[in-house]
Amino acid sequence: MKIVRMQTDEGIRYGGVEPDGIRIYDGTPFVAWQPTEVLVDFGKARLLAPVFPTKVVGVGSNYAMHVEEMGRQLPDSPTVFLKPSTAVVGPGRPIVLPALSQEVHHEAELVVVIGKVARKVAVEDASSVVLGYTAGNDVTARDLQREDGQFTRAKGFDSFCPLGPAIETEYDPLEDFSLECRVNGEIRQGTSINDMIFGVAELIAFVTSVMTLLPGDVIMTGTPSGVGPIRHGDLVEVTLEGVGTLSNPVVAE
Ligand code: MG
Repeated sequence: MKIVRMQTDEGIRYGGVEPDGIRIYDGTPFVAWQPTEVLVDFGKARLLAPVFPTKVVGVGSNYAMHVEEMGRQLPDSPTVFLKPSTAVVGPGRPIVLPALSQEVHHEAELVVVIGKVARKVAVEDASSVVLGYTAGNDVTARDLQREDGQFTRAKGFDSFCPLGPAIETEYDPLEDFSLECRVNGEIRQGTSINDMIFGVAELIAFVTSVMTLLPGDVIMTGTPSGVGPIRHGDLVEVTLEGVGTLSNPVVAE
């Protein structure tokens, strides 16, 4: 199913996408998950990021052609970093370009949403801790990243982690699904998620060998080649086949 999170007049609620609208659920996808009688029209749903993670784990250098365009070496093991939860925004919300940067880039990514407390998970058990998958944009101040190599600064600004629009729970990351990024309708990035160097199961095993992942935490699995600048007034769209399109306007601070 496709799970969304939305603002309603009664507060923030989760929902399930049905043919005629969004079914409101009690509880969360992680605990006490029960459908209600309430169905909200698609046009009236105010979507939020589909989860609010305690942490966003990023993965660098996970597509060979992106490693090449960045002038890096192919990694022997995953390169991981953290983005703060305060960077997360939902579909339709603006990406705010910070005054500190003159060169902010889009990075379209497949995002894993964790469904259970996950610690020291073996590769063969990795799928058992996954709730589903969504699309994400690992927005990056490239000039700041080049300047001092600090991923946390370059990727940690508020609004630098759009996620959504929905979590697809029936998604197999081993299938040949496409991942694309368009800016103002022009295609910038396009690949198959099968081109990842380290697959989802390996990434979950690697990350949970270090830190415990909690329900709702996410792993951004890295971006393919074609990263490039976004500017005030642009519309950035990340389309993950089988999941949907995450659209965000870009505004200057
Ligand atoms: Mg990235």
